[in-house]
Amino acid sequence: MQVNDHMTPDNGSLLHNSVQPDSRPLAIEARGLVKSFDGTRAVDGVDLSVPEGAIYGVLGPNGAGKTTTLRMLLGIIDPDDGVRMIFGHDRPHDIGRLIGYLPEERGLYPAMKSIEAIAFMGALRGLPLAEGRKRGLELLERHDLAHAANRTIRQLSKGMAQTVQLLGTLVHRPRLVVLDEPFSGLDAINQGKLESMIRALADDGVTVIFSTHVIHHAERLCEGVAIIAGGKVPYAGSVESARDRIPAQVRLETRAREGGWTAALPDAARREGDFFYFPLPETGVEPLLKTLIEGEAGILSLSIERAGLHDAFVAIAGEAAAKQLEADQQGDAK
Ligand code: ATP
Repeated sequence: MQVNDHMTPDNGSLLHNSVQPDSRPLAIEARGLVKSFDGTRAVDGVDLSVPEGAIYGVLGPNGAGKTTTLRMLLGIIDPDDGVRMIFGHDRPHDIGRLIGYLPEERGLYPAMKSIEAIAFMGALRGLPLAEGRKRGLELLERHDLAHAANRTIRQLSKGMAQTVQLLGTLVHRPRLVVLDEPFSGLDAINQGKLESMIRALADDGVTVIFSTHVIHHAERLCEGVAIIAGGKVPYAGSVESARDRIPAQVRLETRAREGGWTAALPDAARREGDFFYFPLPETGVEPLLKTLIEGEAGILSLSIERAGLHDAFVAIAGEAAAKQLEADQQGDAK
């Protein structure tokens, strides 16, 4: 699976991949979205393309412009500049019934029963209340929460209340689900459940876009990702292509510590303890292996490690943005 890749250098010009990597129609297409608050650009020329049925992440540190971008996509706020098309419509409100949205600020009426909260959220998207209650009960049963149907929101644990809100986001069976930091505030078990729910939605052909400042959520779940920092998107495309921007690393362990064979290692090779580390040569490792064997290096182990999304994020968004992302994640853990 692939999404349309592009890099946007700082001057904002687009270098499109000339090949259309897949033929799926786009659920979301945004070009040059700009939004300023009080004269400061919160979002500064965002481009992204999300094919139907994809799970797509908007990944960046707090304050990077994720929420503002999602709100523009949904039509909650209008961009100062740029266009966004949702299922080919340039006015997202026209197709509100096809969209489910979980905002960053969670909250349901504390005195409302869970089942009523779900039905009420469905009604806001055009679903008759009676049908909302019926579907709501099915959804609660499917998520082992049937016992909570008639409990009020204030009687639920935080994780349960968040699940109820998510079910309310889904009850009208949207084709596009937009989740703003959905993993925030959830414990590991509920995060796992949410991952499963997101995967199940995509299996049913629903497009899911979510914002996050946690790299591993994007890496584990997403087919495509927009990396956002300081209101700009220096990369939007497939997670795989982002990882491929960094050469794989070779880790080599040899019995001999030195010998003529060391001259065959790439200049960038560094030694750490018993291991050499260096970027995978363009020619692969075979020619090097031959030299190592002939030079009696005594190969004990050799592994090729592909870059993860974290390394790609550092290379694409820069050290400062990566450090901020890590600080945000540590902030979560407190
Ligand atoms: P977070 O997860 O912390 O909300 P984010 O990546 O979603 O981060 P945004 O909420 O989009 O970031 O905010 C981007 C920038 O725009 C921030 O500097 C924020 O303070 C500013 N901003 C967002 N909304 C408003 C608003 N309504 N009025 C003024 N400034 C705003």
